[in-house]
Amino acid sequence: MFRTGKLTVAVTALLALTGGVLGVSAAAASQPSTAVTGETYVIGTDTTFAPFEYREDGELTGIDMDLIRGIAANQGFTVEIKSLGFDAALQALQSNQVDGVIAGMSITDERKLVFDFSDPYFDSGVQMAVAEGNTEITKYADLAGETVVAKRGSEGETFANSIKNEYNFTVKALADSATMYDDVKAGNSVAVFDDYPVLAYGINQNNGLKSVTEKEQGSSYGFAVNKGQNPELLAAFNIGLAELKSGGEYQEILDTYLDAPAASKDTSFFGLLSDSLPALMKGLGLTLLATALSIVIALVLGVLFGFFKVSESRVLRGLASVYVSIFRGTPLLVQAFFFYFGLPQLTGQSIDVLTAGVLTLSLNAGAYMTEIVRGGIQSVDPGQTEAGRSLGLGYVMTMRRVVLPQAVKIMTPSFINQFVMTLKDTSLLAVIGFAELTYQGQQIYASNFRTGETLLIVAALYFIVINLLTMLSNQLDKRFNK
Ligand code: GLN
Repeated sequence: MFRTGKLTVAVTALLALTGGVLGVSAAAASQPSTAVTGETYVIGTDTTFAPFEYREDGELTGIDMDLIRGIAANQGFTVEIKSLGFDAALQALQSNQVDGVIAGMSITDERKLVFDFSDPYFDSGVQMAVAEGNTEITKYADLAGETVVAKRGSEGETFANSIKNEYNFTVKALADSATMYDDVKAGNSVAVFDDYPVLAYGINQNNGLKSVTEKEQGSSYGFAVNKGQNPELLAAFNIGLAELKSGGEYQEILDTYLDAPAASKDTSFFGLLSDSLPALMKGLGLTLLATALSIVIALVLGVLFGFFKVSESRVLRGLASVYVSIFRGTPLLVQAFFFYFGLPQLTGQSIDVLTAGVLTLSLNAGAYMTEIVRGGIQSVDPGQTEAGRSLGLGYVMTMRRVVLPQAVKIMTPSFINQFVMTLKDTSLLAVIGFAELTYQGQQIYASNFRTGETLLIVAALYFIVINLLTMLSNQLDKRFNK
């Protein structure tokens, strides 16, 4: 519960009112669980796990989404949904970045050690599927010597691992269903292990797969909160679920999604382009925002630590060296995970995704900027400083009037280079759920399974923007520096 404002109270009141008028939640109105009333909870979910969560025209929809929204309305709280991916959602829950997870998440004994689960709301189980045209794999024994794919951190992965020695195959883990299915269709993996209702739904929507084995006995799905956290939310979920069941809404939700007819969408490239462009543009906006913020902060850090590096003081030089070696000596991806998932666990303070992203990118780029500034200053012939000093100018004046104007000219191409790198690096923030361009692309192909074409569009957008900005920067460089 990160935000409780007047607005949420008003929204809740409105919902309660409409509920009352429509006679929807009469039972709820008589015994509301007041602990959650007016609260806003952040809920993490998978990117695509149709029919439980997926996007329809950019909007998150599906059984889980209708269920959590229905229960929230019934119990008088508000939800803010974060589509993070399955594994990332569980990580986010563990580090209290989200208050709860609903993601077709199986209630398992192992998970019960770290999470508290609601009452089960759907029975599921793992099943194997292969590419539609595959006639060779019909049972587990046919997997000998082959590679199969499953979702990282999922029950499907656990199950595949539990039988891989017996049947002598290799298990590879990917983060989301769309890339998993693509992997099978491309022939990189011969089979996928996923939950049977999800496979059945996908096959029904012509995703190019078919199931060949019986489903395995599996566990049920539950809504999860971090162990010992938000018990009132869990309680409200259970009451809401029971009421949606007795009121018939639960069954209605299931019927809506489980009986969905096969999709008949515009399958042309231009159809895809026009469907996806609005979301991609939104992503591009965030990409540019994160880049701009990060580059400005990085510039400040770079100038500061760059001067430290050429200073007379050993302490300042040492400080700058430590900073540079930490951020240059660890991968950006690890830094992003650390700031978003790790730091909150260590400090108990949650951090929003833009802040974590900008922190990562600016500290990282700042380290490279430091080296650019140091290199620039040091590449100016020491004779220039001597000349300045012998003309009677002080250190600061010599720097400002003699050294820096020359250094800046030398540094500019490297600055432009760093700027372009930072812009491209924003794409890594997709892994922490920052809704930039790459993330938007992933969300799109996660639900339409047109990975290749979507990635082409995403790449083209990066290409156009980066080249335009490079041209502009070079133009400015010529104007001011030559
Ligand atoms: N039910 C599976 C699990 O909990 C998979 C969930 C998912 O992929 N979203 O492990």
